[in-house]
Amino acid sequence: MKMMLRTKPAITILSVILLCASVLLAQTRQEIRIPDILGYKTLKCDFHVHTVFSDGLVWPTVRVDEAWREGLDAISITDHIEYQPHKDDVPVNLNRSYDIALPWAKERGILLVKGAEFTRETPPGHFNALFIEDVKPLDTKELLDGMAEAGKQGAFIFWNHPGWQPEHKGWFDFHTTIYEKKYLQGIEVVNGEDYYPEAHQWALEKNLTFLGNTDLHDAVPLQKTTSESHRPMTFVFVKDRSIGGLKEALVSGRTAVWYGSKVIARQEYLEALFGAAVRITDVQYEKKIIRFALYNSSDLPIQLLRAGKAGPKELSLPANATVRVRIDAESVEKPMELPYVASNFLVGPDKGLPVSLIVAGQPTVDAKTETK
Ligand code: ZN
Repeated sequence: MKMMLRTKPAITILSVILLCASVLLAQTRQEIRIPDILGYKTLKCDFHVHTVFSDGLVWPTVRVDEAWREGLDAISITDHIEYQPHKDDVPVNLNRSYDIALPWAKERGILLVKGAEFTRETPPGHFNALFIEDVKPLDTKELLDGMAEAGKQGAFIFWNHPGWQPEHKGWFDFHTTIYEKKYLQGIEVVNGEDYYPEAHQWALEKNLTFLGNTDLHDAVPLQKTTSESHRPMTFVFVKDRSIGGLKEALVSGRTAVWYGSKVIARQEYLEALFGAAVRITDVQYEKKIIRFALYNSSDLPIQLLRAGKAGPKELSLPANATVRVRIDAESVEKPMELPYVASNFLVGPDKGLPVSLIVAGQPTVDAKTETK
């Protein structure tokens, strides 16, 4: 009896351990289906996460595991240069998080971009420098000197969470200076749960690269990524899947931001994404009625609002799904153009992407074939 009492908890503990081990072994990657566009490959990226080497709460390799699980291609660990709250427990070494994460990332096929975060009072605020070689020289008294050093290392610099601390937000002289010196090349239109319409407008007006990042500090809970529930991310349209390819695309501004159900980008990239994702198939004609299927082959749900007279007032096109549409046509012989607005594809703050669904007319029946 005594034996029984002692072995039972032991068995329970053992089975809990085995269960945990099998959960760890069975980690799966949730692939995200976003079409390649305009001859470029689409990479899913997050260029702003933290670890215990600044104010994050996880070890650098955990960031790589999360990115792998959630279907990303590239991340940058951007620990704060000037803020080290764990320094009593973790030695201050500005290059260490990258060094620890790199072999882990290589093994899993994740591109790891070396980065760091300039962390100053708002204004001017926080800025990430990507593609740097050594973080240490960026730790300067004057922020401008640090940025100049980052520039020397060939950095791509962007402004983080420009709408953070609303009482201090705005575009200040410092931002004009770093913009004119060409240090500032990008801006977070999205950071974590926040979307900044002002930053969106600045990105358009000043031709800054659009970025959407998580700014993760905690661990990401183990849950399934879906089209409705996913981490915010930046799509980067690259010539090749490499660190150099990422840099060339970011400098050239070839990005889009996926945030909740919204995709935010310059019009040309949204048009290309829409065009690559949506297809009209299975068109049927019947007197003055046309029926067709709209197929969305991407993980991006699309909301369409009618901008013309024909077609349903609203069309909801879920991710990886087909919807059937019926329209009344004056003539089924001529092609029909149905103007819509993709209301969740933002070409500007509160401005959806105009699109056209073009349905081919009924092919005229060949006279010879008909007489047979
Ligand atoms: Zn940050």
